[in-house]
Amino acid sequence: MNLIIFGPPGAGKGTQSNFIANKYKLFQLETGKILRNEVKNKTELGIKISSRMNEGSLVSDEIVSKLVEKFISNKKHKNKFIFDGYPRNIPQAENLNNLLNKYEQKAGLVLKLSVSLDIIKKRISGRSVCSICEKIYNEYFNPAPLNSNCCAPRFLKKRSDDTLNIAVKRFQNYEKNTEPLIKFYKNLNLLKVVNGESPISQINAEISGLIDSNEGWL
Ligand SMILES: [Zn+2]
Repeated sequence: MNLIIFGPPGAGKGTQSNFIANKYKLFQLETGKILRNEVKNKTELGIKISSRMNEGSLVSDEIVSKLVEKFISNKKHKNKFIFDGYPRNIPQAENLNNLLNKYEQKAGLVLKLSVSLDIIKKRISGRSVCSICEKIYNEYFNPAPLNSNCCAPRFLKKRSDDTLNIAVKRFQNYEKNTEPLIKFYKNLNLLKVVNGESPISQINAEISGLIDSNEGWL
């Protein structure tokens, strides 16, 4: 069975998709990563991608689609995909359906990792790193111990406000383009929403439960 996972940037999608890929022996098709690989390996597509990026343009849907097809057409991964970072909008979702049909496959389960903007803001703005021991803390979720000699407030370094502003923009962009996928996959009866604000181990367990109880799992 093929799986699709989506959710706002900062929701922990990568962590969960890694977990699923390892546990269920799936091929993790992470579009961002394979795009970077194409560029690095200077393939025909990679060269096209770099020239687009040098022009300051976004990588077109057409290029991403070609890349996705390259993997879907590989029989080795048939019905063993987890799509992470694709689709990002309705046209891409329709395209993915067509590609899967073309190679006699289909999506069996779509997971939406749900996290509010408020939590994502706190994850970013509350984050600090100890400049002595490099431990990572979060003032809201995982504060540094009060009586520690090493991780005292004066050693804790925060990220710049820019990081937060960029994250808010990316979230808004996600809401505009990707949230319509909820309705799209609900209509196909494939969507399951997972609370991405729970502890990671709990999210892992919830996702495993959904996959295990999904009929037709191969
Ligand atoms: Zn420290």
